[in-house]
Order: sequence, then C-alpha cells, then structure tokens
Amino acid sequence: MMANEELLFLPLGGAGEIGMNLNLYGYGEPGHAEWIMVDLGITFGDATHPGVDVIMPDPAYIEKHKDRLAGIVLTHAHEDHFGALPYLWERFECPVYATPFTVSVLQRKLAQEGLQDRVPIVEVPLNGKFELGPFELEMISQTHSIPEPNSIAIHTPLGTVLHTGDWKLDPDPVLGTGYNMSALRRLGDDGVLAMVCDSTNVFTTGTSGSEGDIYESLKTLVAPCKGRVVVTCFASNVARLETISKVAQACGRETVLAGRSFWRMIDSARENGYLSDVPVFHNEDMANELPSDHLLVICTGSQGESRAALSRIAAGEHPRISVSDGDTVIFSSRIIPGNEVSIGLLQNRLVRRGVKVVTDKDHFVHVSGHSAREEMVEMYQTVKPQIAIPVHGELRHLSEHARLARACQVPETVVTENGGMVRIAPGPACVIEQVPSGRLALEGNRLVPLDGELVRGRARALYNGAATVSIVVDGKGVLMSDAQITTSGLLEPDDYDFEDDVLDAAEEAVEHLSAKARRDDDQIAEAVRIAVRRYFRATFNKNPVTRVHLMRI
Ligand SMILES: [Zn+2]
Ligand SMILES: [Zn+2]
Repeated sequence: MMANEELLFLPLGGAGEIGMNLNLYGYGEPGHAEWIMVDLGITFGDATHPGVDVIMPDPAYIEKHKDRLAGIVLTHAHEDHFGALPYLWERFECPVYATPFTVSVLQRKLAQEGLQDRVPIVEVPLNGKFELGPFELEMISQTHSIPEPNSIAIHTPLGTVLHTGDWKLDPDPVLGTGYNMSALRRLGDDGVLAMVCDSTNVFTTGTSGSEGDIYESLKTLVAPCKGRVVVTCFASNVARLETISKVAQACGRETVLAGRSFWRMIDSARENGYLSDVPVFHNEDMANELPSDHLLVICTGSQGESRAALSRIAAGEHPRISVSDGDTVIFSSRIIPGNEVSIGLLQNRLVRRGVKVVTDKDHFVHVSGHSAREEMVEMYQTVKPQIAIPVHGELRHLSEHARLARACQVPETVVTENGGMVRIAPGPACVIEQVPSGRLALEGNRLVPLDGELVRGRARALYNGAATVSIVVDGKGVLMSDAQITTSGLLEPDDYDFEDDVLDAAEEAVEHLSAKARRDDDQIAEAVRIAVRRYFRATFNKNPVTRVHLMRI
C-alpha cells in the first residue's frame, strides 16, 4: 500500500432520490483511482417530463475514466439497479458481475437489445468471492422482493465497506436461502469501516413483515370469494407469485398469468431452481375455459400502467380476460410515489364494473422488500460500521437515516447526493469534491439530457401551446405575400377568427424595422416572434412556444 492511497465512494444516481442507482468505489492515489461500479439502474418518467418513459444517470464522469473502470457489479435484478445496463454498457465496455438469477434476467434483457454476445458476464455463485481491480469482493445473500438480492463486502487495504444493496431481514422469504447473518456477523467482528445502506423505509417503524405471512392472510381473503379473483403484483416478485399460486390451489382455483413480463421472470426463476414445486401457471387462453370460481388471474399493472394487463382488463379492452359484478381484484403491491393518480383511475374503473377492490389498506396483502427501522437498528448493531453513508433515498430519507445511525452509536455519518465524492479513508470521512452528475432520458432510440432543449421544449409546448408563423420577404426585407400561422394546443375550433389580427401584428413588426435590420434574417424573425407572443398574451393570456419560418426570395 502506497502512503497516500485513498478509498472513495461516488454516487452518480440513487443518492437524493429513489431510483436509478449508480454507485462507484475508487481506490488509489489521488487523481489515479481505479474504479468499480455497483449497479446501473433506471427510473421511470412522470408527468413533469411528458413523453419520457425511461430516465437514467448521466455517467459522463466515469465514462471519462473508463480505462480505469474494472467492472460493473449488480446487486439484484430490479430495474432501478440494472435497467440502464443495455443503454449505457457500450460507454464502458467492461465485464459485468452478478449472481445466477440476475445473470439469467440480464441475458434476456440484453437479448432484446441485440447485446447478448457482446457483454462479458461473469456469474458469481451466491456468497461467492472474487477480485476486481484493486478490490476483493464478497457477495452476501440478502432478503428483498426478488430472488437473489446481495450485499457486497468490498475489502481494501484501507478497510472494508459493506454496500448493502436493497435488503430486509425476512425470517421466511418463501424463496431462496434467506439472508446470510453469519457473514454479516463475521464482517462486524472483523471490523467494517463504512456501510453504504438502503434508506427507503427509514420512516417506517417496527419491522417490514415477512413474505411468508402473506399466505394465510391472502387465503382468508380469497377463500370466500364467489366470482373471479384477480391479483396484481410486481412481476419480479417471484416469491409472491409462488404464494399466490399456492393460495389459488388451496382455494380450488387454477392460476392464469396475464402479462408477458411474468413469463420472462418465471423462466429465469426456473432456470435457477426456483418455483419447482409450484402448481402450473396457465396462459391467458385458459381464462375462458375455467368457471369463475375456479379461476385466479395474476396480472401486471399494479401501478396503473396504461399498457399493462390490469388497465386493459379494467377498460374492457383485454382480448381474453374480463371482470364484472361480483369479481374481486386484489392489489398485492404498494403505491410507488407518483403513481397515485393513475392507480386511482384504474381502481375507479374497476369499481364502476361492480368489482370489489382490495388493497394493502384493507387487508394484509403485501409486505415491503425494504427494511424498516427495527431491522436497520439490528443491521447497525451487527455490522458496527465506523462510518454510515445512507443511499437509496431522497434527501429527507438520507438525513433521517444518518440520525438513526448516530443513535446506533455509529461515530461518523456522511450524507451526500449524486455527484458528491466521499473520501472514506484516510479519514475523517467527508465529501471532497462535487463532480458533474445529471440525468439522461431515453428518447426514441437515443439518450438526451433530461434538462436539455428537447425535453424542456416539449414540456413548454405541451403546457403553453405552440404557434408557427411563416413570413416571405425579398432581399430588402419587404413582405412578398401575406404571413401565415399555424397553432397547436392554443385554440378551440370555433374560437373567434383571430388570424387577421395576429398576422397584422406580425407584418407591422417587420414594417417597423429599419432598412438595415430588415436585411438581417435573425432580426426580422425575432421581431415577428415578439409581436406574436405579445398578441397571444394580450388576447388570450397565454405564452405559446412561438417559432418563425423566414423565407427570403
Ligand atoms: Zn430492489
Ligand atoms: Zn432499489
């Protein structure tokens, strides 16, 4: 070990927000660190960015240093942890490390993008150890809401960091081997320098509840149902699929799956030995073969996604599955913040059809995959880190998590948001530099800055409407024909005939320019633009996006 080497942590996504995780660990002399990346996820768009479905971290900083990026390690196969890999991998072209189930889901995802033969993937066994760049890494099995979640112990000459990934302490996770408490204890006893830890449910008291407890509760709910039963849950929650299908069997119902993403997850699960003693899942064609009281449908769309199976069922647009008076729809899921409106619309549609809607507010039908406070306390008592660095949360989560860590006798806490580079050692731990960070939007088939002109321009046109004026002038800037205007999102078809007025204003603006200004295209266009905007503001109290096409002949 050289005298001045340092250990760094740099989040470019997921610190100060829930979603699109991208964590970097660096080790080496200042300015020459070698890096590894832990997770590379996406987040989904909302109403603030119309037309944008998928958002991911801008990795420009590490892209610049990609020759010193040894590899990408994935903690688990949730979209907010690995969803950006197909879009961003080509910027790094480094190997990807993950445990078998994650590898299997990743390969299906890469195949969709035509990348399956290009990305070098290294499969790491559960609780396996491997070397990557200057780091010795150790996967530690966790429990969460997808098969094979992992914490990663990152060993360096300056100390060990435990990157928890998404976790809870579930005594009965239904599927998998459970969390590796003995490894966590061993790490704690050997000494952990820093723990970089999930903050999602820091405001939830008590414990998160066990996946295994859902079976009995769901069975009590489904058993007395007379009509069709539809249960919606996240496709990646394979344990929940197992639970629901066993509930169906116990209640004399056959299970039909609606939603393509289920089949991809089930294939990956079966490849890795999960779901081996689960009743058969039928495809949608079976829905109409079975009497209502012998059918249970598991479907996608718990967040009100418009194209998912449940939205189509609720709208009466699903080709094979319908619901009506006397049927029951169970939301075995939580509301992801931001989706309240679309979920409300969906539930109202179902109620209008006479369906009984049950959510986690009415009945115990869901547990979170993230640790609540009591589990976090147990984790701090077991791992006993010197330093706590909260991630996977908005700033309010991170700062509350830091408070909780201090209450657990953790001597140092560092709260950082995306782009804040933390020197973990040599200490004391602190943010030493702010590097550029940002967000990219998937726009058709390319990535553009989320705060760039394309996305902002679209939002402006959406909220304010748009007007385009065409002007034809000669070499001296004299109008050669009447100006023309087209608008969108500004007027009702029978609005009063305003065109003459606005075009008069545009033409006057040109005529008022000096002879010199009229020879300059930019000056004419700007004068017209200002005149048209002023007209709309005065007449309709609107500020449309205004464009001018100038032709000079
Ligand atoms: Zn997760
Ligand atoms: Zn997550």
